Amino acid sequence: MKQNLFLHLLNAAKDVYSSSQALKEFAPWPTDLSYEDKPVVLVPAVRQIKHWSNAHPLHKAAQQVADFGNWKQSYTENEVGFGFLQDYGYLELYGPDGHFKTNAGRAYLGYWGRGLYYPWHRHEAEEIYAVVSGSGYFESQGQEAALLGSGETRMHSSNQPHALTMTDGPILTFVLWRGKGVEGLPLMGTDSS
Ligand code: ZN
Repeated sequence: MKQNLFLHLLNAAKDVYSSSQALKEFAPWPTDLSYEDKPVVLVPAVRQIKHWSNAHPLHKAAQQVADFGNWKQSYTENEVGFGFLQDYGYLELYGPDGHFKTNAGRAYLGYWGRGLYYPWHRHEAEEIYAVVSGSGYFESQGQEAALLGSGETRMHSSNQPHALTMTDGPILTFVLWRGKGVEGLPLMGTDSS
């Protein structure tokens, strides 16, 4: 039952991947994915995710696994504030610590609630965001800011600082990482010291 829900999620994510030239060019889809029974870890945002109706197949698949997710929040209240942690969370769909294990890449589903500001941060790994549902205002150093909606993508190079603001409502994103630092986590701030 739980495994089937995650397989459904993986297939919905693969459909998004397969229909996006930008995602396909960014990284290959791993061929060695194996299901892992990860412990359920819930975050307050699960409640909001389940109540946000949207017809996108990956959105719906994410809602169906929400109660079984190994949800993560790689930031502390000191870094992002109490309110942020009440309406944010991400799942590692595949990767070294994902619901599907692989060392050949890393993919996340990330959710941020209405009105949140995800402050400037950076990481060594290269990254591409694909908006699944909702929208957000993407800012990155050295690049023009843009309000992106479903089907649109945004790439961040290694250690390029970026920020995200939810303007009209929440956002659900599908995110791929590649390259050096793929084992790491985002760090707050724009300096690289
Ligand atoms: Zn990032």
